[in-house]
Amino acid sequence: MAAAANQRKKITSFHPPQRVLLGPGPSNINPRVLAAMSLPVIGYLDPIFVEMMEELKTLLRYAFQTDNQLTFPASGPGSVGMESCFVNMVEPGDKVIVGRNGVFGGRMIENVERCGGTPIVVEDTWGEAVDPNKIEDALKKNPGVKVVAFVHAETSTGCASDAKTIAEVAHKHGAMVIVDAVTSLGGSPIKVKEWDLDAVYSGSQKCLSCTPGLSPITFNERAIEFVKNRKTKVQSWFMDLNLILNYWGNTTRTYHHTAPINGLFALHEALLLLKEEGLENSWARHTRHHLALKAGLESMGLKYLVKEENRLPQMNAVYVPEGVKNEAEVRRILLNEFNLEIGAGLGPLAGKIWRVGLMGYSAQSANVMLCLSALGSVLADMGLNVKVGEAEAAAHQSYAAQHAAAAQQMRTTAKKK
Ligand SMILES: *Cc1c(COP(=O)(O)O)cnc(C)c1O
Repeated sequence: MAAAANQRKKITSFHPPQRVLLGPGPSNINPRVLAAMSLPVIGYLDPIFVEMMEELKTLLRYAFQTDNQLTFPASGPGSVGMESCFVNMVEPGDKVIVGRNGVFGGRMIENVERCGGTPIVVEDTWGEAVDPNKIEDALKKNPGVKVVAFVHAETSTGCASDAKTIAEVAHKHGAMVIVDAVTSLGGSPIKVKEWDLDAVYSGSQKCLSCTPGLSPITFNERAIEFVKNRKTKVQSWFMDLNLILNYWGNTTRTYHHTAPINGLFALHEALLLLKEEGLENSWARHTRHHLALKAGLESMGLKYLVKEENRLPQMNAVYVPEGVKNEAEVRRILLNEFNLEIGAGLGPLAGKIWRVGLMGYSAQSANVMLCLSALGSVLADMGLNVKVGEAEAAAHQSYAAQHAAAAQQMRTTAKKK
């Protein structure tokens, strides 16, 4: 029946609604990035395109805070970046420690198994950080571990882990690290060189606010040495870095696969926006809007899942308040009546939390205020004791206090000069 009805329906051009995306990604895209994407396609070996590729690599090195030669956007979503790291870094029989504190750690375990490696899983409660002490215990108990893998910013819970310390611990025991920086890149500090991270991947559609489907990755010399000297072939032809580098490397430019050309135009523009704003300013902006949102949500009585020191500004996980019988209904109303998307809980947190993302271009005050007013109204309509005006005022006060503190700091700095 449904299929027949579908066939009768006249198909016209697709026009998606304008949504405010405050979920776990994708985030909203700056119009400059969308404009770049709509420019005419050119060939992937066109010298003008090749020049753009070099700029793209330079901009990515800035975002990752590294001078790693091997830094480029893999053709595919964050999951392709993840898989690229594992298939290149893990050989059959290798022991790999995976710190799991959410959904994406679980996927890392899957990747290790599919590469023929032996995962050693270090569990932490969802909503808590990966514990470097537990990682060290596992390294002591299991000599010869090749890689320690973990998620820097767990999008499923809004929790940050201490990438610098985990990398130190791993290196002390002769292991390399694979770091998931999909949600951290651009939104909160990740310093690949200073923290000595070996293989790191990210995604285009979270805090970089680019079109989905690209995955920046970066490998340091230690990781490259390993990939070059593997005993076995990388089991994935598409993701074998030894082959991809014939296209993305510095010396040769030969066909590997057709690069997603217009997507790369978009990423170039998104990274340029980040460069123009400045990384530190981008991190500070995410924190500023997070603090205002937090003030408003807490004024409504909502509680955060993650303790304060581990919270990601770009991913606010709050418990669904008591009194809400059907949290999916809340999200449905937000989407249909306010064009506002927020995220649901996953796995053991399904039905228990909401995830409010403030990523990249989505991290702006208008969106914070919309979220508080829309969510507050829906909760008040459901009979909860929520005062929308007070939540909005709390957010305004947070912005005002932060502006005052920043102005004070500028005066102090000016005096010192
Ligand atoms: C979104 C996300 C991924 C996967 O990225 P896709 O682009 O959806 O494949 C991996 N890790 C983390 C932490 C993420 O947030």
